Amino acid sequence: ESLDKGLEKTKTNFLSKLSKAVVGKSKVDDDVLDNLEEVLVSSDVGVNTTLKIIDRIEARVSKDKYLGVDELNAILREEIAGLLSETNSGVETEFTVPLVRKPYVIMVVGVNGVGKTTTIGKLAYQFKKQGLKVMLGAADTFRAAAIDQLQVWADRVDVPIIKQNMGSDPASVAFDTLSSALKQNVDVVIIDTAGRLHNKVNLMNELTKVKRVMQKVVEGTPDEVLLVLDGSTGQNAFEQAKEFTKATEVTSLAVTKLDGTAKGGVVIGISDQFQIPVKYIGVGEGMDDLQVFNKVEFVDSFFS
Ligand code: GDP
Repeated sequence: ESLDKGLEKTKTNFLSKLSKAVVGKSKVDDDVLDNLEEVLVSSDVGVNTTLKIIDRIEARVSKDKYLGVDELNAILREEIAGLLSETNSGVETEFTVPLVRKPYVIMVVGVNGVGKTTTIGKLAYQFKKQGLKVMLGAADTFRAAAIDQLQVWADRVDVPIIKQNMGSDPASVAFDTLSSALKQNVDVVIIDTAGRLHNKVNLMNELTKVKRVMQKVVEGTPDEVLLVLDGSTGQNAFEQAKEFTKATEVTSLAVTKLDGTAKGGVVIGISDQFQIPVKYIGVGEGMDDLQVFNKVEFVDSFFS
């Protein structure tokens, strides 16, 4: 239900554009395909993914010779679900982590303002609710506000946080956090990192160092590198995904602020273009407003 609410603008916008795209037409012809391309691009699905979808629909039209516009909705839905399934197969539907060893470490990356801290807080809340022992690491030491904000969330959710002074070495904070987590038998560690995208070399070096140092404490960490993207920024989110995937290996995505935006199509495009599963979506500012991304529900609420 809350997903429907979160995606309301995206859906209304998309479906009304889609119905305009086929108005006065009975079959899917080149005009309709052109219009559909425009609808998808303007819904922030992204050019590459849009072309992929159009190609697939075109192939179906030429195979069956005739495709009525009344079937277009269902076919589009099928193709989008198919794309999402290719990248998001095997994604969990619950807030959980594989506890193959403790702690499970999630390193969170993303530029400032996208909702990184909020997502970390919401995740901590959910994991804690599942009975997991959670610890946060404030390795975004570049801004005092980042440390303070994470502290606010740690207090709110009532989980421990490891931090140092602003300006200290992020890798050192990460080291402390993992050491402490080991001692306290913590299940899940979530490490915040600085998102200075304008200094790409620094960003890459910093993330590499944080990882290297964490591996000294717990081999094989981080288990997950979660990139947080602001869904309401549309094409900017694509750019950020491009830059971060150059700077570090990204294993999963969280797309935030899908409430109040018509740009929910970014979820489809980014996941497809970068072949990274979307693990979480943010649909509000509250503690409860994070959802495990469910591709079936997502497509359902997009189309109905
Ligand atoms: P950070 O700089 O990336 O750590 O960003 P913050 O976590 O501080 O979030 C920036 C702003 O976005 C805050 O006002 C958050 O409340 C808001 N925010 C984060 N996630 C969401 C979301 O899913 N929906 C909405 N509407 N706002 C969000």
